[in-house]
Amino acid sequence: MLKGKVALVTGAGRGIGREIAITLAKEGAFVVVNYNGSEEKAQETVEEIRKSGGDAVSYRCNVADFAACGEMIGELVKEYGHIDILVNNAGITKDNLLMKMSEQDFDSVIDVNLKGSFNTIRHLSRQLLKQKSGKIINISSVTGLMGNPGQANYCASKAGIIGLTKSAARELGSRGITVNAVAPGFIETEMTKDLSENVKKNLKEQILLKRTGTAKEVADVVAFLASEAADYITGQVISVDGGMAV
Ligand code: NAP
Repeated sequence: MLKGKVALVTGAGRGIGREIAITLAKEGAFVVVNYNGSEEKAQETVEEIRKSGGDAVSYRCNVADFAACGEMIGELVKEYGHIDILVNNAGITKDNLLMKMSEQDFDSVIDVNLKGSFNTIRHLSRQLLKQKSGKIINISSVTGLMGNPGQANYCASKAGIIGLTKSAARELGSRGITVNAVAPGFIETEMTKDLSENVKKNLKEQILLKRTGTAKEVADVVAFLASEAADYITGQVISVDGGMAV
């Protein structure tokens, strides 16, 4: 389904990003597994993809660094000729109540989650406009739709991603480029593993399906949005949250 396509997935060494990389590769895409700190894990993702008959490379880049994103995308376009799918998945949390949140913790979450998505889109959009095709999928969150106590920085970044997605969809649509967001709910990864049992229990009560989601369930929706089957879908936010934000 994605044979001949080049996909760049940010933060793909572990968690949801890893599953997205593996799923896109299974569909036939050549995947660039971006990472920042997890070099070994990124290499493991590449090996897992190759073992299953796919192809991938890893590439280190801090998505919060505007110039570094420009270099990454420039080098990838030079090497592979085109990038067809961009998944902005890299994300961090630095939770605290608003009255205790440091300026640095607010800024760093915005820098990685929101500005990181801007940085890659900004540097790739000229190439996509030239190609007259492309699929951009930004990973937002249910918390960007609902808000969450203790996560003002994170929720602001994820709500910002929705505005970025809709604006980019409006700017790029006339050249056949689609831009959508996926808003996962409560997915079991390292990001959520330290939540207390009590918080997890409360969260599960809010989920209509009464269970947490899996990275694969998010990755499958990303793969759909990256495919031709979703050619007529743009500017949308697709929730993958078991009915948490109904
Ligand atoms: P995770 O397991 O903590 O993984 C985060 C990923 O982001 C890692 O691969 C990490 O790579 C990468 N990353 C962090 N800072 C980066 C930077 N500056 N540059 C490049 N990569 C960076 O989290 P996850 O649960 O898989 O989350 C993936 C995405 O889904 C995030 O955007 C998150 O906000 C979103 N999400 C998650 C949930 C959930 O319940 N888990 C719910 C809604 C939305 P390195 O280790 O290499 O730095």
